[in-house]
Amino acid sequence: MSFMPRFQTQAELEAHQLAGLKWTVAHAYAGSEFYRSRLDQAGVKPEDIESLDDLRRLPFTTADDLRAGYPFPLLSVPLARVVRLHASSGTTGKRKVLTYTAKDIEDWRHMFARCYEMAGLTVEDRVQIAVGYGVWTAGVGFQLGCETFGALAVPVGPGNLDMQCQFLVDFQSTVLCCTSSMALLMSEEVHRRGIADRIALKKIIYGSERTSDAMRRRIIENFGGRVELFDIPGLTELYGPGTGLECSAHQGIHYWADYYILEILNPSTLEPVPPGELGEMVVTTLCKEAAPLIRYRTRDLTRLIPEPCSCGCILPRHDRILGRSDDMIIFRAVNIYPGQIDHVLSQSQGIGSEYQIILTRGDDGRDYMTIRVERAEDAPPENDAQTAQAIAQRIKTEIMVSAKVELVPYGELPRTDRKSKRVFDHRFEAEE
Ligand code: ZN
Repeated sequence: MSFMPRFQTQAELEAHQLAGLKWTVAHAYAGSEFYRSRLDQAGVKPEDIESLDDLRRLPFTTADDLRAGYPFPLLSVPLARVVRLHASSGTTGKRKVLTYTAKDIEDWRHMFARCYEMAGLTVEDRVQIAVGYGVWTAGVGFQLGCETFGALAVPVGPGNLDMQCQFLVDFQSTVLCCTSSMALLMSEEVHRRGIADRIALKKIIYGSERTSDAMRRRIIENFGGRVELFDIPGLTELYGPGTGLECSAHQGIHYWADYYILEILNPSTLEPVPPGELGEMVVTTLCKEAAPLIRYRTRDLTRLIPEPCSCGCILPRHDRILGRSDDMIIFRAVNIYPGQIDHVLSQSQGIGSEYQIILTRGDDGRDYMTIRVERAEDAPPENDAQTAQAIAQRIKTEIMVSAKVELVPYGELPRTDRKSKRVFDHRFEAEE
């Protein structure tokens, strides 16, 4: 059984998208007071949607709208039709709560099963799921998708490295699902215990945070060079994880354009960026019933990859998530995204995968940036000055800012299986 779309051409996909867009606007207008008043304010009626270009006439939806509508924001069906809710693990303010009808769950399972298919799994695979179970979308998403696909799910949850390692050996798990920080931690643990030869791990599906090329290389090396990595995007607002996957060509993430439309917009002007340029992901769902999204601003930054993929799949691609538009650093009047620094570091020699960006304000009133990065495990400290200078030079050339680069011994920067904090902005601390 295949979970891939049956479209052969771009035109078929676009016709499907237009039908979905018309349905979504009509459904949201009829079922949600919030959407009805927003669309009325924008002067758009459902029958005005005649082409995909009419998407640009629709109003935006934001995380603030979700919080304002707490506890059941964007609800567009009677509550009796809702069979489940999920919430984000937000730490400040109210959580984002999203509701699902039975069909929404069905669609999500189908999309997620497609991820396993795209990663090349078979029903013989054993999938160790090392992400959080609970009210958030990760654990249950990976699990339902795995069972729908037909592989064997091993639901472990996050952390617990002893049990993870034991299961990798005893159950001969072939696929590991986790965050990239957790994948790094697990790879170091497998390396430290010397069990790389006793496990059968072939693939890692990881998501939910930014990951550099250097970190990916490190994970692969620690597992003895035998694992293939697949980045999976995931957003609670958009069902959860499983709305796209990196394919085996490993040049970007195919996204399920038959379930949602992706726009990449300049976060300041909200106008489309030229194809291939960095911008904010804005999504519009095509068949989501309980909580449809109309031009929802995700705050995630990426770029479209306009060229066709060598794997032959016609579903479009975007790059990895390169940061959050909220994380934009304004440094000496230059807009910088941490992902850009990540990118430079991942192409530099002699350093590890962990780094921190520290911003301070000097007595002279000017802003200073220090990038603290770990020396590679096998690199001699004598090369530090040369390595630091080479990195600073690349940052100057590629991002057009001056930064001081400091190398610290391998293993000195904190590792965590949660999303790592990498930017420390101390510039405004001294001021009252
Ligand atoms: Zn591909």
